[in-house]
Amino acid sequence: MDKLLDKHGRQISYLRLAVTDRCNLRCQYCMPEKGIDIVDRKELLSYKEMYRISRVLSELGVDKIRLTGGEPFVRKDFVKFLESLSFNQYLKEINITTNGALIANHIDELEKMKINAVNLSIDSLDRKKFFEITRRDVFPKVMDTYNQLLQSELKLKLNVVIQSGFNTDEIIDFIELTKNDKVSVRFIEEMPFNGKGLRQVKEVWNYNKIFGKINSHFDTISSVLSDKSSTSKNFKVDGYKGSFGIIPAFTRTICNDCNRIRITATGLFKNCLFDDGVFNLKEFIRKGASDDDMKELFIKTVHKKPKNGFIAEANRASGNVSESMSTIGG
Ligand code: SAM
Ligand code: SF4
Repeated sequence: MDKLLDKHGRQISYLRLAVTDRCNLRCQYCMPEKGIDIVDRKELLSYKEMYRISRVLSELGVDKIRLTGGEPFVRKDFVKFLESLSFNQYLKEINITTNGALIANHIDELEKMKINAVNLSIDSLDRKKFFEITRRDVFPKVMDTYNQLLQSELKLKLNVVIQSGFNTDEIIDFIELTKNDKVSVRFIEEMPFNGKGLRQVKEVWNYNKIFGKINSHFDTISSVLSDKSSTSKNFKVDGYKGSFGIIPAFTRTICNDCNRIRITATGLFKNCLFDDGVFNLKEFIRKGASDDDMKELFIKTVHKKPKNGFIAEANRASGNVSESMSTIGG
């Protein structure tokens, strides 16, 4: 089987696929309150196209897919699409990243499919603060999803973006959730761009600062062994059921072991979160590319994957990163 290898010796086995650029929330670090540019529906990859791309990539060694967005559950028939993907025998893991406001009714169905884990994004455990961050009052729905997922067979991870002036005082509260709940809480460094250029951040909360706060609170933290290509460095408080991790999304200290590629909702292929899209897969497919044409292009393109996110950012044709994660597929 041909494989996707880059010139730094990394093998690509993980696709992050954004199924839509739309979202039911307006998180301040991701989207502006008003005026987000939503693309025309026909500019989005169809499910058929996404299915085909996933299949071709899986024949090149991609065995893990994360479905993200935008909010994947706002796209009509997303659950049916998941079902079709779960018939692909090459895929060992199918995971979803969601804000959780629309999924409570689907958890039973997800359990029956080949879905392994849900990453639930929740940045505050306080309804008022949650509203300030997301600009939508859906905290009770998201907590309902949290509780249902805890009871389910699905692995549960929480994504918490650490935002100066909003939730840095809740870091310990989030870790306390892991005392009795079998959940992995991951704190994400904020990337200060939300689709309208730079967001003003009062104080930078990077990996070291987040870890420093946690380490000075708990006496008994130990490292948890993680996959080589894990995006987070993981720990647990001794005796607690769950674990926690920190994702150095912005300081980018995890690039050496990167095994990921991304495809945006409009079909841009990205070798790195910080590049500006290395080719337009949608146009390529719609002009009649065969599966073999696609394979050849994937192999060639992955070979050029930049060594790290700083190099990817420096090579952008369109200047500094400013686009929303909802279009990149965070
Ligand atoms: N709507 C879904 C959700 O919120 O989980 C999936 C898409 S969202 C873009 C994926 C992840 O990216 C979320 O955990 C979100 O918190 C994170 N994210 C979005 N913008 C970010 C930013 N500027 N910095 C750090 N993380 C960000
Ligand atoms: Fe929507 Fe997720 Fe972006 Fe929040 S982080 S606005 S939920 S896409």
